[in-house]
Amino acid sequence: MNDILLRKGDAKTPTFGSDKMLQPAPVDRIPEHPTTPEIAYQMVKDETFAQTQPRLNMATFVTTYMDDYATKLMNEAIDINYIDETEYPRIALMNAKCINIMANLWNSPEEAQWKAGAVAIGSSEACMLGGIAAWLRWKERRKSQGRPTDKPNFVISSAFQVVWEKFAQLWQIEMRTVPLSAEKITLDPDDALAMCDENTICVVPTAGVTWTGLNDDVEALDDALDRYNKKTGYDIPIHVDAASGGFILPFLHPEHKWDFRLKWVLSISTSGHKFGLVYPGLGWVVWKDKKYLPGPMAFSVNYLGANITQVGLNFSRPAAQILGQYYQFIRLGFEGYKAIQSNSMQVAQYLHDEIGKMAPFTNYSDKVVNPLFIWYMNVDYNKTAKWTLYDLQDKLRQSGWMVPAYTLPDNLEDNVVMRIVVRQGFSRDMADMLLHDITEAVADLEKLEYPTPSRSTLEKNGEVQGSVFTHTGSGRRHRKTK
Ligand SMILES: *Cc1c(COP(=O)(O)O)cnc(C)c1O
Repeated sequence: MNDILLRKGDAKTPTFGSDKMLQPAPVDRIPEHPTTPEIAYQMVKDETFAQTQPRLNMATFVTTYMDDYATKLMNEAIDINYIDETEYPRIALMNAKCINIMANLWNSPEEAQWKAGAVAIGSSEACMLGGIAAWLRWKERRKSQGRPTDKPNFVISSAFQVVWEKFAQLWQIEMRTVPLSAEKITLDPDDALAMCDENTICVVPTAGVTWTGLNDDVEALDDALDRYNKKTGYDIPIHVDAASGGFILPFLHPEHKWDFRLKWVLSISTSGHKFGLVYPGLGWVVWKDKKYLPGPMAFSVNYLGANITQVGLNFSRPAAQILGQYYQFIRLGFEGYKAIQSNSMQVAQYLHDEIGKMAPFTNYSDKVVNPLFIWYMNVDYNKTAKWTLYDLQDKLRQSGWMVPAYTLPDNLEDNVVMRIVVRQGFSRDMADMLLHDITEAVADLEKLEYPTPSRSTLEKNGEVQGSVFTHTGSGRRHRKTK
């Protein structure tokens, strides 16, 4: 056998003895020749090695641990397209069962056997669907009153997740944001109503605010909105963005009213791939009743072998996540979900308390209401510190952790905070490792003789004093909202 031929890579060629391993990976053109699966696998895998280990990624809300059976089940369904409902009717049924289970966790009053809802690729698609439904219902009503429909708006706190900005842009619906402040750290119902008018399609409170980990008070909003709607004759509803809270509140605070028990809550969205405990991407949206899901949102296609009605922005999508969600419901049950969420809460509470005790830090809120929290550099410490939270983020990265530092949204945008999200798969032991690494990193930063570059930038801009919490507007303004 010709030596050169072997070096092109066949079953006998050692992966790292092949000429492929002497060539750069393709960047803009497809390679001319094929290679062996072993070599291709090695090349792709190796490119991922420099990344954070998903379990050490404290920035993400998205599931990074599922048990072996869930993983097996999902891998075995990797070749199934959810949209082919005719070929895979059992998957469509499991999907409908998941929607029912969620509707009931959220206290749906709907009597029909199959509740109105839809699977989505994540909360983003689910929020869009909830928002579009509110818009179409508003439009329908306005048309029936002979009123113009060209200036729709919706009201949300300035701590909105980025999907709502996309919703506003893509559908050209004005987004009215209620600013947060040091005193009002969640959506203020009266401030929200002050922004409403006849063109308001809905108000969107968040259960599990991405930026802060807190919950908007949906019950207070519903109360205020009820009085407002009575007074004005409007019918402004609520869509709850419960990306995180949708899978926390029912298990940990079943008595807390935030869901379909409230009069004006007509739709709720959540991320199955966050505290729903399924790998990405999976989201869900449920309507209080079929009558709130506008007809034009349900599309019928007949070329799959039967007439299929479908609600969603995507067409093809993986079915594996639906099996994963259904598995988790069966495997864990109510008690299992409760135990896991409760452990995540306790680990988050522990981290919150320990970080609160460290000299440089102050927690944003005394309470931990979801398994995530943020903190900032306390005002006095900040006056003389030679570093910023961005430096701490960089330091922690050296020990494999991703703990994001970012600035808060408008009105509080000069405040740099750090956030930790605790998910299934993060134990007290890991929390102790993280705390140890934070303590060490801070000790190192305190030894600095000269300010770090990020510190110098803000001092140069004269931004050390002032603002609400601590002032570190170093110009590194990025929205870290996953
Ligand atoms: C994560 C999140 C979203 C977007 O959800 P995806 O599942 O990532 O698409 C929307 N709203 C809130 C409040 C979130 O936390």
